[in-house]
Amino acid sequence: MPGDSSRPIRTATGADFAETRRAIVAKSEDTWIVLGAGSILQQPGHGCAGYALQEGEGGDLTLFDCGPGTLRSLVNSGLQLEQVKRVVITHFHLDHVLDLFALAYARRNPGFVARDLDLVGPSGLQSFVERAGKALGGVERGFNGVRYLEVDPGERIASKSLPEYRLSTVDTHHSKISLAWRVDLPSGGSVCYSGDSGEERGVAELAKGVGIFCCECSFPEEVAQPNHLSPAGAGRMATHAGCDLLLLTHFYPSMDPQRAGREAAEHFDGRIELARDGSRHLFPVQEPAEGLTN
Ligand SMILES: [Zn+2]
Ligand SMILES: [Zn+2]
Repeated sequence: MPGDSSRPIRTATGADFAETRRAIVAKSEDTWIVLGAGSILQQPGHGCAGYALQEGEGGDLTLFDCGPGTLRSLVNSGLQLEQVKRVVITHFHLDHVLDLFALAYARRNPGFVARDLDLVGPSGLQSFVERAGKALGGVERGFNGVRYLEVDPGERIASKSLPEYRLSTVDTHHSKISLAWRVDLPSGGSVCYSGDSGEERGVAELAKGVGIFCCECSFPEEVAQPNHLSPAGAGRMATHAGCDLLLLTHFYPSMDPQRAGREAAEHFDGRIELARDGSRHLFPVQEPAEGLTN
């Protein structure tokens, strides 16, 4: 078992972190777009996991997870497959990755305008894509020439510098290999996406001070599972993180989103929003703490 990062977070108020909170002075044009706010047990408005980070109005897309239905949801949101320049994967559960192969197949189509693509994820990503792609009939060839960027499962926290922004990650211990991701954008906006996770100190630390904490909230307390979050756990993580916005997502049918929001608010006094397929969330841009004291 891991060390500190596996211990539950018991901090129930934001008092300890009040000093680290910063004033929101503006919203950037970067957008976090929910493509799938549910689980493998899909419901209207809550499909399998998928998110798009759009840099600037009409800009390129980085997908975070790519579960079944993600690409359909993307075009339904007014976006295009050719805008995807990077896909970041949290773990290899089917509800988070299946549309990777739909994307590869699309890229083989003569009607697709090919462009550079980064595939980022846990160690073993390339081998996973190649093995599953072969089983699907050579689909993996749609990813010929893409750049794979894998994180070693032995790393506690790894930061991978990419040209446009800083990308950091931590192990969520949800499955054999599972990661949460954080992006810090040049505009000053930041987002942490939990992927699938239990109440993990390491994930809350990764989310420290972020603008948007997109946090899974799979189950209500009465059917809580250790490798997923309930509203109370998500709220405590958000308080520990001191994020500006807690965006609850990955709802199973037993988790009513409205109830999730109410119960998370008992543990987090910041802004809470509920993810739904197609919902868009602007990044709060914060002023550095030093600026407040001058
Ligand atoms: Zn999972
Ligand atoms: Zn999941």
